[in-house]
Amino acid sequence: MNDLVVVGASLAGLRAVEAARAAGFGGRITLIGAEPHLPYDRPPLSKQFLDEVAAGADEPSTVFHDEAHFVDELGVTLRLGEAATALDPAGRRVILGADTVPYDAVVIATGAHARTLPAGRGLAGVHALRTVDDAHSVRRAMDTAERVVVIGAGFIGSEVAASARKRGLPVTIVEALATPLVRAVGPELGLAIAQLHAKHGTDLRCGAGVERLLGEEKVTGVRLTDGTELPADLVVVGVGADPATGWLEGAGLTLDNGVVCDEYLCAAPGVYAAGDVARWHNPLFGRLQRLEHWTSAAGQGEAAARNALDPENAKPYLTVPYFWSDWYDSKIQFVGIPDADETRVVDGDVTADRRWIALYRQGDRIVGALAVNGQADIMKYRRLISERASWQDGLDLAERRRRSLAAKSAEAVGSATRS
Ligand SMILES: Cc1cc2nc3c(=O)[nH]c(=O)nc-3n(C[C@H](O)[C@H](O)[C@H](O)COP(=O)(O)OP(=O)(O)OC[C@H]3O[C@@H](n4cnc5c(N)ncnc54)[C@H](O)[C@@H]3O)c2cc1C
Repeated sequence: MNDLVVVGASLAGLRAVEAARAAGFGGRITLIGAEPHLPYDRPPLSKQFLDEVAAGADEPSTVFHDEAHFVDELGVTLRLGEAATALDPAGRRVILGADTVPYDAVVIATGAHARTLPAGRGLAGVHALRTVDDAHSVRRAMDTAERVVVIGAGFIGSEVAASARKRGLPVTIVEALATPLVRAVGPELGLAIAQLHAKHGTDLRCGAGVERLLGEEKVTGVRLTDGTELPADLVVVGVGADPATGWLEGAGLTLDNGVVCDEYLCAAPGVYAAGDVARWHNPLFGRLQRLEHWTSAAGQGEAAARNALDPENAKPYLTVPYFWSDWYDSKIQFVGIPDADETRVVDGDVTADRRWIALYRQGDRIVGALAVNGQADIMKYRRLISERASWQDGLDLAERRRRSLAAKSAEAVGSATRS
């Protein structure tokens, strides 16, 4: 094995090249990235990155490492600003336009592209948010915006709405489905989380279709299918992302909502995939999953590189999916899978409390947990889910946590009264 090629220079790609060197691989590594930037972190782009920058202050950066880390420390050949245009698995080559890069093993880590609305194309003031360039544009637009409409009440749209509210801007979120976040956390708990918007003065309209965007050259508003017109000089479209597999058409891989892989993240001999682009068989839940989560992109990047370099000793990649999202002053965290026979709030009150936790049951197994401001608890449930624990185990843990927190707060009240 002499040549490892990683296509996609973001989180999964970065972790792949780091893992290859950590595993002792001494051959050539080429990291190909369509964006001109060094690998950078995306989660801050819809959060702190959108905050106002004081006049004269430096622009924020979310770059993971400087160029020297890749070139000098890891000995990686960087080919940034160049998109792979095709893959030839039989000839073991990545095609870059007129150029080709040979490989013994390749890791596909091309992530996902933000979906756009055909109606908004070419209209100034309409933005998607996937890349750092998008985030710069959204932040600059927020500096002068007077009214914001966010299309899509998913996590990225909700975070953008929270950032705009932090600047004091009036914000309306338009969501086509009757309840938000159904796919991510299920209908009941999607509604529960969405209450955070009302509490912070964001106008959330569910079941509202967008008929068209208004304005000639610059957006002036959004017209809904029920005839309502929402004035806006900034529209952020957060309607999901599609796996970046276009360049793989004709390569003979199975492409079906991502690059389909086995439990080793292997798509074909010598071809592995990782991160948002990979749809792999997760043995823990016995199903194909494609996640758009930071933690799995990092873990899959490492696992795919290790397996690609030593297929004889490949290890399956299994994980309990985990993501977080920051809205206003709350942290939302989810572990597991949301399709459940039952969801139950086991701690706190969703309407009255800042902190609450809900569990998800499938048969007699706990399969998911959702925490709002429950950072001290969520990983305990993740461990239970990874151990394939029973629903009763989940309820017992919730009971123990409730008792322990009640005892702590009684103790705190007692010591405050004594002093
Ligand atoms: C704004 C935002 C906020 C987020 N917040 C959270 C969060 O709070 N919590 C959480 O868990 N997750 C969050 N995520 C998700 C997380 O960032 C992603 O799961 C992670 O970035 C996926 O990494 P990746 O390397 O698989 O793909 P990506 O980060 O999408 O990177 C893929 C790279 O491949 C490049 N590429 C595409 N096609 C080609 C080609 N043909 N040739 C060469 N290069 C190509 C792309 O330009 C891109 O740079 C967020 C994502 C975004 C966009």
